[in-house]
Amino acid sequence: KSTENQAKKPVLKVGTEPSFAPFEFQDETSKDYTGFDMDLIRAIGKELGSEVQIQSMGFDALIPALASGNIDIIISGMTINPERAQKVSFTKPYYQSGLTIIVRADNTAIKGFEDLPGKRLAAQIGTTGAEEGKKITDTTVREFNSPAEAFMELKAGGVDAVINDRPVNDYYLKTSGTKDVKQVGNPLTAEEYGIATAKNNTELAAKIDKALEALKKNGEYDKIYEKWFGK
Ligand code: GLN
Repeated sequence: KSTENQAKKPVLKVGTEPSFAPFEFQDETSKDYTGFDMDLIRAIGKELGSEVQIQSMGFDALIPALASGNIDIIISGMTINPERAQKVSFTKPYYQSGLTIIVRADNTAIKGFEDLPGKRLAAQIGTTGAEEGKKITDTTVREFNSPAEAFMELKAGGVDAVINDRPVNDYYLKTSGTKDVKQVGNPLTAEEYGIATAKNNTELAAKIDKALEALKKNGEYDKIYEKWFGK
């Protein structure tokens, strides 16, 4: 064994879909992946003594990539749900989220989820927002590669509402303004984000849970949280 190999850190291959600010997105100047999830997984990598390598892919490609061994973990604002838990092992929840609706600013007909039957909806492909939309009667749900594309279609008038995660909608309104669109409705569901490992890799999920616990104890988690969401 060479000294070079001994010095090399193990690599943690991380899959994410980076169009989900403030959780994962590309910094415009540095082009680095940045956001709450990115800071968190780098801090977890440090705890584990691993080098974190981020790979970008479509949201609906993440679980297949984990199953085929192309990546070791997913961190991508991914909601823990029973359907996914059959295919992957989730860590303990690391963030509380939920779904809300974005409509055009001049829309007075849609005030909440109860007003969505019969409407044309949009969501990001493979997300809980898309799934919830499909459960509503008489709707069409168009699935886009990113929330940004769904918002564009909303502004263009092609759909009546976008169902998407509340913190991402909050950030979108904060950064793009409220001239054209607004957020309505109480969060439909309480959702919790988890980090996913391959189904049989419960060992890695347990290690990440331990690292998360350490980051919560030493204040690092709170620092990252405040950086992206304030106090
Ligand atoms: N939390 C939602 C889900 O898990 C959306 C995630 C995302 O678009 N990155 O389906």
